[in-house]
Amino acid sequence: MAASRPERRSIRRQLTDMGLRLTTTVLALLALAVALHEVYNRVASVRATLDTQTRMVAANSTAALVFNNAGEAHEILASLASLPDVQQAALFDLAGHPVAGYVREGQSAPCHTLRGDHRPDTDWDWCGVVAYRTVSLHARPVGLLALEVGLRPAYVQLVLALGFIGLVTVAAMALAAPLWRRLADRLTQPLSELVQVTERVRQEQNYRLRSAASGSMEAAVLANAFNEMMAQLEKRDVQLTEELDQRRRAEVRLNDLAYFDNVTALHNRHYFKERVDAAVESARRTGASCALLYIDLDGFKQVNDTLGHEAGDELLTQVGARLVEVLHGPTGVARLGGDEFAVILDGGVTTEQLEGVAAKLVRALREPYALGARTAWVSASIGGCLFPDQADSREAWLRHADSAMYEAKAAGKNGWRLHQRGLSPEISRHQQLEQGLRVALGDGQLHLVYQPRVDLASGQIMGLEALLRWHHPELGSVAPDEFIPIAEAIGVIVPMGLWMLREAVQQLTEWRAVAPELHLSVNISARQLTDDATLEPICQAMRDSGLPLHAVELELTESLLVDRSPTMLARLATLRDAGFGLAIDDFGIGYSSLAYLDSFPITTLKIDRAFVQAMHDTARGKAIARAIIAIGQALRVEVVAEGIETQADADLLLRLGCRRGQGYWYSPPLAAAEVGPRLAQSQREGRWQS
Ligand code: C2E
Ligand code: MG
Ligand code: MG
Repeated sequence: MAASRPERRSIRRQLTDMGLRLTTTVLALLALAVALHEVYNRVASVRATLDTQTRMVAANSTAALVFNNAGEAHEILASLASLPDVQQAALFDLAGHPVAGYVREGQSAPCHTLRGDHRPDTDWDWCGVVAYRTVSLHARPVGLLALEVGLRPAYVQLVLALGFIGLVTVAAMALAAPLWRRLADRLTQPLSELVQVTERVRQEQNYRLRSAASGSMEAAVLANAFNEMMAQLEKRDVQLTEELDQRRRAEVRLNDLAYFDNVTALHNRHYFKERVDAAVESARRTGASCALLYIDLDGFKQVNDTLGHEAGDELLTQVGARLVEVLHGPTGVARLGGDEFAVILDGGVTTEQLEGVAAKLVRALREPYALGARTAWVSASIGGCLFPDQADSREAWLRHADSAMYEAKAAGKNGWRLHQRGLSPEISRHQQLEQGLRVALGDGQLHLVYQPRVDLASGQIMGLEALLRWHHPELGSVAPDEFIPIAEAIGVIVPMGLWMLREAVQQLTEWRAVAPELHLSVNISARQLTDDATLEPICQAMRDSGLPLHAVELELTESLLVDRSPTMLARLATLRDAGFGLAIDDFGIGYSSLAYLDSFPITTLKIDRAFVQAMHDTARGKAIARAIIAIGQALRVEVVAEGIETQADADLLLRLGCRRGQGYWYSPPLAAAEVGPRLAQSQREGRWQS
């Protein structure tokens, strides 16, 4: 089936065409009616002529026929010359012989042959009409009259009439066309206006445009509906634009969060990784070298610990500003976390240029920093590597720059190094540890040991300190003093700490079946308390354990307590509320100020083993130990001595008023399996047997 073609002509054109067709049809019908009327009139007139003439001629020619007077008959017929329609006529006697005849002169031959034996009636055809009439005298026939009227003049009349009608039609059409056009204009004008506005809306995307169409009720309704629709569209458009704006702003904000460090406003590690990829890709494509500098601050931890986190953040911001200044802009500068920064230089960097930048950075960063009323000094250790000149892969590039940075640190800090082949063993060990730590927990390389804490007077085991152990598959056993700082730096301390807490709590629950009063101490790193998200699982582990209040104690280092912000206090209170006891580990070595002791909800002070060992050597050492014990007593918290290695240590501590302690004299840290039997023994004998 053929699809109907869409109408392409305008409504105005269609209306005009329709009007003209209508006019033509009406005029044609009119012309036909006039023509028919004309024919009818002609026929009636011919009939009348025939009737009148035949009657008159028949009456006049009676005598001529009775007397067979051919001359008179001729004369009578010749008088017909005055009637232009009569073509011919003839008179016949009763026998049918012609008596007289008449044929109009100057005419073409008549159409009919007049016959004397014809019946008295009328004979029609296209050319003319012949009337036969009996001539009578006193109702007695005396002869026959035949008279023909031609139709040609009638035809001429008809043609003239039709010609006239044609002329009138043409004139009427000429008049009607502009009239129809005007009418179509008037009807379609509002529609055209609407079409124009719609077209403009489409082209300009301007939803404020409105139609002013009017003229008829329907046009006004249409225009109103259109305008209402446009008003709604405009409203939606405004809403949509606003929503898009909001979304764009949110995207920018998300982008900021994802790519910027909120302390220094520099780019962050996430951005840095992308920059590294882009730099490697571009160096490979163009052959122009790019360079990477790792910057690690020396002495930042001390500033942070002594002046507080706010001052630490301020210092990091100033470091960022100096980097940006030396490098003439923030492009390629990022803070990777903590006190680590990185710089990427691309677009064809030479070794000399890189050395120049590194030296400039070292100089700029060691200038003093004004932190409020205080002044602080830090320096930077910087390691650099060029790609592809000094590294053949992305990973090697990062690794080499990192190693060079450690080399700068190992060489005495406050300096820079570029990558060279053959690194010092400490640096590769550091890298090995860092990589190893990332998989240690998942690979089950970690386990816990427990060092008993005893009552110095009775020797009975009162508690256990859980200590983390790591067996590296290649390096063997690694000391916590070595790996814990690295685990803190790379963040894996958070999952590790949580794992060890759960593990230790589980063990404690088992052992309390043997020794119901047993306590557990767990070391916790400051990194585990930096935000509520890491704090919550720690509290949850305690709540889940069902253990009584203070059965588990968290050992915090003094450095953590430097931050006396309301947030930190609230976090410690949260830990207390969850049921933890809080101990200060290695007390006495960290800070001169004791002010913080007052503010924190602690339950235990642990005397660092350095003081225990110094007790016997100098009077000063003994005085310090005594002072710490006195502080503990004044604060009504428990005092625990660490690193008791001899009976003499234990005796002296007891004399100074310390009641609890731990150390090799009693027991080294024990594997979990050894703890049970020792506990049973301690319960049985009431005192510790080493
Ligand atoms: P700490 O908490 O002060 O632990 C006491 C350290 O002294 C332990 O070393 C222990 O083995 C050692 N020790 C015990 N008795 C004696 C003694 O009589 N003489 C001497 N010289 N040392 C003794 P370890 O296990 O090597 O742990 C070192 C440090 O690593 C711990 O010091 C603690 O700060 C940290 N650490 C250990 N385990 C963890 C842990 O699970 N999490 C966190 N955050 N830190 C931990
Ligand atoms: Mg400890
Ligand atoms: Mg300690």
